[in-house]
Amino acid sequence: MPDNKRIYLDHAATTPTRPEVVKAMRPYFTTAFGNPSSFHSDGRDASEAIESARGTVARHLGARPQEIVFTSGGTEADNYAIEGTAYAWAEHGNHIVTTRIEHEAVLETCQFLETQAFRVTELPVDSSGLVDPDDVRSAITDETVLVTVMHANNEVGTIQPISEIGAICRERGIPFHTDAVQTAGHMAVRVDDLNVDLLSLSAHKFYGPKGVGVLYIREGTKLTRFLHGGGQEMGRRASTENVPAIVGLATALDLAAGEMEGEIRRLTGLRDDLWRGIEQNNDHVFLNGHPTLRLPNNVNFCIEGVEGEATMLALDIEGISVSTGSACSSGSLGPSHVTLALGLSPELARSSIRFSLGLGTTEEDVRRVIETLPPIVARLRAVSPLNLR
Ligand SMILES: *Cc1c(COP(=O)(O)O)cnc(C)c1O
Repeated sequence: MPDNKRIYLDHAATTPTRPEVVKAMRPYFTTAFGNPSSFHSDGRDASEAIESARGTVARHLGARPQEIVFTSGGTEADNYAIEGTAYAWAEHGNHIVTTRIEHEAVLETCQFLETQAFRVTELPVDSSGLVDPDDVRSAITDETVLVTVMHANNEVGTIQPISEIGAICRERGIPFHTDAVQTAGHMAVRVDDLNVDLLSLSAHKFYGPKGVGVLYIREGTKLTRFLHGGGQEMGRRASTENVPAIVGLATALDLAAGEMEGEIRRLTGLRDDLWRGIEQNNDHVFLNGHPTLRLPNNVNFCIEGVEGEATMLALDIEGISVSTGSACSSGSLGPSHVTLALGLSPELARSSIRFSLGLGTTEEDVRRVIETLPPIVARLRAVSPLNLR
């Protein structure tokens, strides 16, 4: 965390790298710096570290090591899953099914493919952010080459019925991808339980380093090569591996798995306390997303009559870091595509704010946030044209 006295509630954006992870990474910058493709002992030490990390990731996902490809992050894994499948299957069809609430890394990749003669169906969600598996079933045509639906939404936290959607895709023989960047390291993510063929995750969302992620590719799933050059990553992704980051990712995933059950219980309690406190102490506030099928660390809500940006800036001055849904949507101040997809008016959508809790969040933090918010809401509403009190 940037400062001990600050309260960081933006873990959905990124998390601090754990000290144990930094420690595990350090030798691979200095003493064990070899190129994993080199045949001498220095190279072998590095390649052994990568293969051990690959084994760890595979074990946690219930996958085989050869199905794990390290990437430069969640964005690259999403791009690769979607473009790689679309191009590999181009002679069979040109249709992709996704949803309106995906991360930009998925939505913009699909939109790019629309300029390359692919056709994209963006499925709607209900008011709690859930995709209906029957909608997936009816959207699939003989031309469909890929279905991609995120595991949990990064803005409102809704968790999708991935396993059911995956079963529908499998019946039709269509590759199924899920962006599990918000769930990996936080909830059980097992590729066979989820019925997925492709799955993306990113280390910096679970207390690992930034700039490293994974694409899981089920054996037999057809994908084109993504980066051309050397033969790294079983020929799928050229470029010398980021050894320290890969070691950091595996270490972080291992640590997360060990404490997952306890953290889910602890965070769910804090999440519910936080929302209860906010709801009891402020009028005209509404939870966004599903009340129970949601990430254990996510509280996203509307403060009617108050711009989310204004709330975020006022909390920042009080030493509390939170986020609005629109913050990472290309720097625009427009309402987020996710809250609009839930059916909120543009005004309400612009009033949403996201608090995402994490390992360092305490009961004391939650209490301080509950106390700090009402005077801010009252002050901002006093100057709001909607004049709610
Ligand atoms: C953060 C995030 C990404 C992007 O991951 P990077 O590693 O930052 O590229 C993709 N999808 C979701 C759902 C995310 O939350």
